[in-house]
This record gives sequence, C-alpha cells and structure tokens, in this order.
Amino acid sequence: MDGMNILVINCGSSSLKFQLINAQSEQLIAKGICERIGMDGSSMTYSPADGEKQETAAPMKDHTAAIRLVLNALTDDKTGVVKSLDQIGAVGHRIVHGGESFAKSTVITDEVLKAIEECNDLAPLHNPANLIGINACRELMPQTPMVAVFDTAFHQTMPEEAYLYGLPYHYYEDYRVRRYGFHGTSHSYVSHRAAAMLGRAYEDLKIIVCHLGNGASISAVKEGKCVDTSMGLTPLEGLIMGTRSGDIDPAIIEFLCNKENKSVHEILNVLNKESGVLGLSEGFSSDFRDLEKGYRAGEAPSIRAMKAFAYRVAKYIGAYTAAMNGVDVICFTAGIGENNPFIRNMICSYLGYLAITIDREANEKRGQEMEISTFDSRTRVLVIPTNEELAIARETYALVK
Ligand code: AMP
Repeated sequence: MDGMNILVINCGSSSLKFQLINAQSEQLIAKGICERIGMDGSSMTYSPADGEKQETAAPMKDHTAAIRLVLNALTDDKTGVVKSLDQIGAVGHRIVHGGESFAKSTVITDEVLKAIEECNDLAPLHNPANLIGINACRELMPQTPMVAVFDTAFHQTMPEEAYLYGLPYHYYEDYRVRRYGFHGTSHSYVSHRAAAMLGRAYEDLKIIVCHLGNGASISAVKEGKCVDTSMGLTPLEGLIMGTRSGDIDPAIIEFLCNKENKSVHEILNVLNKESGVLGLSEGFSSDFRDLEKGYRAGEAPSIRAMKAFAYRVAKYIGAYTAAMNGVDVICFTAGIGENNPFIRNMICSYLGYLAITIDREANEKRGQEMEISTFDSRTRVLVIPTNEELAIARETYALVK
C-alpha cells in the first residue's frame, strides 16, 4: 500500500482501542480493542478491513503486553495487514487532558511526556492510562515517531469569561481550576465538516456542535474558534449524560452526604456512574435504544429521562446562540446524535425561534452525513458522523510527514 500508515491508540485504564489508517487514502486498514488488561479474562478483538473479525482470549498482564499482541496481529503472516512494523510510519495517541499546556497536537518528546504528566492531577483516571500507552509503544517501536492529540486542545481558544468559574480567582492561579472541555477532536472534526458541507468558509460561520453519546457535550464555534463548551474541569459538567448528572447545584453534594451518610467521594461516584438518564429512568437504562422503546410504550421513567435530556440540550443551544449573537448551523454527532431521530426531533422542537423546520423524512435516516432541516430553514441542521480516529490520524500525519 502506498503512503504512510498511522496507528491510532486510545488507551484507557484497562482497555486499549486501536485503528490502523492509511494517511493518503484515509482508508481504515484494521481496528480492534483489547479489554480487561491486567485482569482475568482479558481478550483482543481484531478486525482487518478486508477480513473477518477475530476474538482471541489472551492473557495481558499490562498495556505493553496488549500492544505487543496488537502489533503481532497487524504483522501476522496470515491475518496481518502489513509486512513488518516498518510499514507503520507513526503512532497517534489520544490524550484526555492537556491542561493549559497544549492548545495543539504535538510530537511526543521527553519534555512533552513530562508536561502531560503534570496534567495528571486534572484527569487522574485517564491521563496516567494514556501515558502508559505511550510508554508501551515507545518500548516496542523505539524508532517510530509519536504524536499526542489532546481532547482539551480545541477548546483552548475560549475567552476568559467563558472558561473562568465564579470562584476566588486564586483557585485559578494556584490550581488552574477552570473550564477545559473535552471531546475536542470530535467538535473540531464535525465543525470543519459542517463548513465543508455548506460550502462556506469555516471562519465565516457560527456553529453549534452537539456531541451526544454516552458522554455528551456541546460547543460553540464562532469564526473558526471554539468560544464555549459544556464540559468543565472534568467531563462531569454540562449536559445530562448516560450515567453522569451534568450541571447540578454544587450544594447538593453536601446535602446528600448528610442525608445518605456517604463521603464526597461516594456521592461523586453516584454523580458519575448512577445519574444521568440511567438515574432519571430509575435505573432502567443509560442506552437510548432502550429509552426510545420505553418512551414509545408510554413508560414514565423513559419519558422523564428523555425529556430532561432533550430540554438540557435545547437550553444550551439557546445559551450558545446568545453567546455568539446568532447561529448559522447546528450539528448532531456521536451515537445518539447520529442515530436517534426521535431525540433530534425533541430537541429541535424547542428551536422554532431560530426558524428551524425539520424535514421528517430526512430525519428518519440514521448514521449518515445529511441535512435534516428543510430548504427554507433560517438555521441549518446537519447530522455528521464523527470520526475521532481519522482526525487523530490526520493530525499525526501533518506533524510527522
Ligand atoms: P457513543 O458513546 O457515542 O458510542 O453513544 C452511545 C449511545 O448511542 C447509546 O445511548 C446508544 O443507544 C446510542 N446509539 C448507538 N447506536 C445507535 C443506533 N444504531 N440507534 C440508536 N441509538 C444508538
């Protein structure tokens, strides 16, 4: 195959997702996931683009062992997709938190690793796992250039009034407590695609991107720059999500600690893992496929959860329209945004003031790039499947070619 192949790695604390992408053709060559790394019952799923999906139960004592299995699968005589590791030109790593140090992707050096480590405090669950992934790759492919692509970088253009919380200013100075935002690679990819789909210059548009997946966030992109986003110091703030609460009155935490006799840590666990639409539906489901069925069957828990979810998104769209003094285009992306016509319709039903009319037939489609507003809508509404791995591969290639 011509051109450079880029290995994209998204490393979690016990899982590792990977994709091999050709930088010239932008074709996916193979992908997969290692799960339960360091635990009993670990396994790897490997899918070459032209072949059959394979699932292998294999012990992986750590991330280095997992990456060794991935590299073996990619170069295997029978099922591999490249002849040797020399045909992997670079590795792009998804890094969750770049703090204020990284407003752009960057080639990984020892100094960069140190700076990423300094952000560990801000994302104690994610950044250390990302670093383990980088170190494991460096050990096995010492000559291959690597790039760090940060979830927070796209949002670093936010103005001070958007990123500061109403707290004593020295908390920002002392500890860098501020809004950072996440899903930046997705917000960047989708907002650029929106401009391309409309045939307009990116710098001329006011764009709202609704990234609605199990984790959900919304961003305002004005004249080519992100000016606000709903996630904050951590991904807990903002929209109601699958299991995360999104915005709440901070005083609720102490109130619940007292009532339930729980620690702050335990209540935060509830806010992260037992809240959102899962909590609102009384534990029924965090998955919108289940909730949609429940809604259609007239079940109160599903109806309540979906209504609250849609209302929160609509409220943020209103806020960001005000922040940008208008909006030209609203984009839906990620699992729910791409695949759930029902929720898109519920959200857009609040947006009459933007002179939006939804084309019902177009909106019934799932998982494809399309416009769902009618030709006479003043504000356009687009569905754009996100592709964070491709965006990471592009950023990586741009820095190493
Ligand atoms: P994500 O975190 O982006 O993978 O999104 C997960 C959410 O997307 C879940 O709530 C799913 O119910 C929803 N989702 C994914 N695929 C579909 C689909 N084909 N139809 C409806 N909802 C979907």
